[in-house]
Amino acid sequence: MSVVYGPVPSWRLGRSLGVDPVSSKGKTCSFDCIYCQLGRTKHPLTERRNFIRVEQLIEELKRAEGLPLDYITFPGVAEPTLAANLGPLVRAVRERSPHPIAILTNSSLMVRENVRRDLALFDLVAAKVDAPNEALFQVINRPFVPYSLEEIVEGIRRFRERFTGRLALQMMFVEANKDHASEMAQLARELKPDEVQLNTPLRPSPVRPLSPSEMEVIEEAFEGLTVLNVYKAERPEVVPLEESETRRRRPKESKSNT
Ligand code: SF4
Repeated sequence: MSVVYGPVPSWRLGRSLGVDPVSSKGKTCSFDCIYCQLGRTKHPLTERRNFIRVEQLIEELKRAEGLPLDYITFPGVAEPTLAANLGPLVRAVRERSPHPIAILTNSSLMVRENVRRDLALFDLVAAKVDAPNEALFQVINRPFVPYSLEEIVEGIRRFRERFTGRLALQMMFVEANKDHASEMAQLARELKPDEVQLNTPLRPSPVRPLSPSEMEVIEEAFEGLTVLNVYKAERPEVVPLEESETRRRRPKESKSNT
C-alpha cells in the first residue's frame, strides 16, 4: 500500500501531493463525523502509534521528484496526528522537498502538547471546527476522544499563540449546523486564523451538501475574516501518480454540486 498519492486538485491547496502517515486499509480516526466521505470509522483510535516507516516515505517520495506542486499535504484515510512519528515524517519531507508542507487535522489531539509540537513543524495547519457547542460537537463529529469541544478549542488557541506558520480553520457546514454560522464566526474570530475554509460535503456523503446559496448566507456571517468558500474556489488540473491509490483516499466530487 502506497503512502504517497496524488497529486490531487485541492480547492484549498492547489496541486497537492498527499502523504498518508497512517495508511491503513479502513478509516482510522478519533472522530466518526456524520458527513465523512470515507464512511464509518472502522478503527476508532485515540492513542498515537507508528503506522509507516520513515524509510518507506523517503523511498516513495522519489517518484514525485520534479512534479509541479503547490503543497505536500498530510491527510489520508485517517486522522494524521495519530501517527506518533509525525515529527520525523515531516522532517524527512522537509529535507527532500522544496515545497511547503500542510496538514489537515480534525484538531481532536491538539489538546496534547506533543501533538502541537509536531504540528508546529508544518507550514500550514488546517484545523477542523464544525460545532460552536458541545451538543452539536457530539452530534456532528461523534468523537471517540475523551475531550470536550472546549478543551479542543483551547488546544487550538494555545497552538495559535506560538505557531508562526499559516493557520486555517476548516469548517464543514451541513443541515445540523447551518443555522449556527454566527456562533461559528465568533469562535473563528477568537481563534484568529489566517483563513477560514467554509466547506460542505461535495463528495459522496451520508448527508446532503448545502447549496451555493445556503453557503453564501453562511459566508456573510464571516465578514471581516479571510474566507475560502468551497463553491467559489478554483481546482487546478493535475494527473495523479496512481489513480487507484488516490481515489481510495479521495472520492470524486459530485458534478451536480460543483
Ligand atoms: S475527522 Fe475526517 S476522517 Fe475522521 S471521521 Fe471526520 S471527516 Fe472522517
